[in-house]
Amino acid sequence: MTHSPTPDVLILGAGAAGLAAAVALSGAGASVCVLERKPFVGGRAYSYTHPALNRVIDSQHVLLGCCTNLVDLCRLSGAADHIRWYDSITFLEPSRANAPPRRSQIAAGSLPAPAHNTLSFLRAPMLSLADKSRIAMGLLEFLRGYPARDDEPFSAWLRRTRQSECAIRHFWEPIVVGTLNDTFERCSTRYAGQVFHESFLNSAAGGRFGIPAQPLSEFYGWVARLAQQQGAVLRYRTSVRSIERLPNRLWQVVAADGSGQVARHTAPNLILALPFEQTARLLATLPEGSPQRGQILPLLGHFTHAPITTIHLWLDREVTDLEHAALLDTRIQWLFNKTQIRRKQQTRRLEGTESAAEGQNPLGQSPAQNPAEGHYLELVISASHAELPQTPDEILRSAMAELASFFPEVRRATLLQSAVLKEARATFSVTPGLDRFRPKPDAPGENLYLAGDWTQSGWPSTMEGAVRSGRLAAEAVARATGNNAGFLVPGLPPAGLMKWFSVAR
Ligand SMILES: Cc1cc2nc3c(=O)[nH]c(=O)nc-3n(C[C@H](O)[C@H](O)[C@H](O)COP(=O)(O)OP(=O)(O)OC[C@H]3O[C@@H](n4cnc5c(N)ncnc54)[C@H](O)[C@@H]3O)c2cc1C
Repeated sequence: MTHSPTPDVLILGAGAAGLAAAVALSGAGASVCVLERKPFVGGRAYSYTHPALNRVIDSQHVLLGCCTNLVDLCRLSGAADHIRWYDSITFLEPSRANAPPRRSQIAAGSLPAPAHNTLSFLRAPMLSLADKSRIAMGLLEFLRGYPARDDEPFSAWLRRTRQSECAIRHFWEPIVVGTLNDTFERCSTRYAGQVFHESFLNSAAGGRFGIPAQPLSEFYGWVARLAQQQGAVLRYRTSVRSIERLPNRLWQVVAADGSGQVARHTAPNLILALPFEQTARLLATLPEGSPQRGQILPLLGHFTHAPITTIHLWLDREVTDLEHAALLDTRIQWLFNKTQIRRKQQTRRLEGTESAAEGQNPLGQSPAQNPAEGHYLELVISASHAELPQTPDEILRSAMAELASFFPEVRRATLLQSAVLKEARATFSVTPGLDRFRPKPDAPGENLYLAGDWTQSGWPSTMEGAVRSGRLAAEAVARATGNNAGFLVPGLPPAGLMKWFSVAR
């Protein structure tokens, strides 16, 4: 058993939350040590080399312009150079009788917010005029903000606002299930409303769609490097088994490294930046009567997971010129053309041009690609409860058939390689009424702090929620030492006519 030097703050977990806390506190002059059980950073936003494929893969994550804390962290660390931004989203309906799939494009135009998407929305063929008027009436509910209470299921809201079947399938579902990752019954209207208010109504900037163009652990590697440059120490392959409050008021954690060697780490401040189930596991190692165990552990029983399944395909040819799209009326909800996204972002960076029009290379050229590598597409199924019991082969077969219904060229293409990733614990669900069980970072007391997307960040299960939670935990640690530093950055201000609407409800 070894004993490490005592930093000011120990952080467990190098996901977005733990890294955000590490950057904030090391930047404020605290000595910080981060313990991470995996050999890479990023947490659930991770990438790794698939052993059978010998390729680096990840489950594509996206962010929006309204994710101001995540964007800020990326800007500080240099990761922002590796985000490819888009001002529009293409919705595709399956092709009929070999015709190309019908495209609807929602894009910000020149009208002031909240009307910036109106012209493209009115033109979108995926919705009838009647559907559009129902949607517009529904969106009006979120114009001035979103409900402060979180007890109404979104399914009840859809009924209450009399949304049509097509409006649900072609508008509410791709956006709500894509962002909140669960069924309407299991998503509260508060968070659905937040998505539409922040990304659809408040400003065009809030709805910009960002895709990390590097594998995710490389992407978060920029953030880890910033923390290290500021003096933070990161220990990988260090799996924490128990936590304990010592009589001298230090927190002690017992952790095993990759070889099974056990070490003790102590610090006056301990941040658990873990998913809720791992937090529960460690809190359960505290003595029965401890206040942290007694107060926090019962809250965690109210949280549930929702899965995401991703299908990774390498085809011998391009089957679409789109870089990403929402696929309608299928199990697959999103398509990411990862070869194109990465190649075009690389081209943009090589040319040093920020002004290139979306999706266009000003020179009309791309860096050379090795044809043997194939064209990499990723398909995403959110809230993939139905896929959990299926075999990878079943999921792959169904996904290929669905993909061919949008892009007939798939039938002529050769599948070079493939992988199916099922993430059963991808996100926690913002079930109606959950907010009252989401603890604040300093809820445990005695210099034990909580971070992670599931804590009271004001956001659903997202990277922005995680970064906010890490920054909030860092603020709580600083406050306890008499430092009132603020690490959180505000949301985007309302733009255009939205300045005249009050956000509070
Ligand atoms: C497939 C998938 C797709 C997603 N898509 C999106 C998206 O498009 N946009 C978006 O914003 N969000 C998305 N999310 C959600 C997003 O990944 C999470 O909300 C966010 O990454 C959570 O960060 P976190 O730091 O709170 O927790 P985590 O990322 O879970 O980090 C916790 C860290 O703690 C470590 N750890 C756990 N136990 C221990 C222990 N005992 N000792 C030491 N270390 C430990 C873990 O290894 C991990 O690195 C997606 C998630 C998945 C899985």
